[in-house]
Amino acid sequence: MADRTSAAGGTAAESRETRTAARSVAGRQSRAARPEQVVVADPPPEPDYPRYRVEPGAGVRLADVDPDESEHFGRKKDAAAELAHHRDRIADLQARLYAENRRSLLLVLQAMDTGGKDGTIKHVFRGVNPQGCQVSSFKAPSAEESAHDFLWRYHQRVPSRGMIGIFNRSHYEDVLVVRVKGLVPEEVWRPRYDVINQFEQALSLSGVTVLKFYLHISRDEQKRRLESRLADPDKRWKFSANDLRERRYWDDYMAAFEEAIANTSTDVAPWYVVPADNKWYRNLVIARTIADTLEAMDPRYPAPEEGLDAVTVED
Ligand code: AMP
Ligand code: MG
Repeated sequence: MADRTSAAGGTAAESRETRTAARSVAGRQSRAARPEQVVVADPPPEPDYPRYRVEPGAGVRLADVDPDESEHFGRKKDAAAELAHHRDRIADLQARLYAENRRSLLLVLQAMDTGGKDGTIKHVFRGVNPQGCQVSSFKAPSAEESAHDFLWRYHQRVPSRGMIGIFNRSHYEDVLVVRVKGLVPEEVWRPRYDVINQFEQALSLSGVTVLKFYLHISRDEQKRRLESRLADPDKRWKFSANDLRERRYWDDYMAAFEEAIANTSTDVAPWYVVPADNKWYRNLVIARTIADTLEAMDPRYPAPEEGLDAVTVED
């Protein structure tokens, strides 16, 4: 994984600004000449390099990543102000992305059961205009979905221009649960890494920025969370006996996640392995990464119509 350097740091930011300015001139020119190619005209944003990113080809050993890490933050309230700051950034940048209406952001959330996918959505996207977000939760495929190629149901939910799309589980289930539970043979699931990379590359060429988060919890923390679901009447609805069955395959899931992440972390669609035993720290890392990425995309409000200064609204 890369060292943490700020996405907005020093000369990198300056050269990004120069490139962005050049790109937007080129973008404006091609917009005028070929309006149908607006989204395809711009290259994907410059990558940022936060700490938990898995570099392409580098691989990851999940056993070496501490799920309980929280940088210098000791308690939830130590991180509260910073989380609020990143939430504000996301809300502002999302408004610009929506108004710009040219590109979109796809967030993929994967984790073991109880890993915190739902909690992440609830806490990181608080305050973001619901009109600009679309959450898609993927369960075991229906008969109709199973009758299509595995990407079919996901492709339909990819965010359209201006939108942020959140995948709560995703096309990665088709190389995770499917592999661990032997739902299809290896000669079917293994080639899917390449198919997924091609799919994400194609999305990026269409103006979709893809970010993928693996919420990394420990086996002990999963036990605590399952027990708390059992103990609290208001949380019991979340408990599923199936979670206990899946838990028995923990090691197989870790191997499947490691291989999936190693094979599909790319420049255009990187994976982030996020320490997730502390919910508040998980929220902070994800909010920070999303805000930095949106900032690098640099969405802009469209230019207003000409001559508005002279416009008056009749009584
Ligand atoms: P939950 O997210 O807890 O509601 O559970 C959804 C369930 O659907 C999980 O057990 C997933 O493993 C399962 N699931 C999601 N996608 C797939 C898929 N493509 N094939 C098989 N099972 C899936
Ligand atoms: Mg579940």
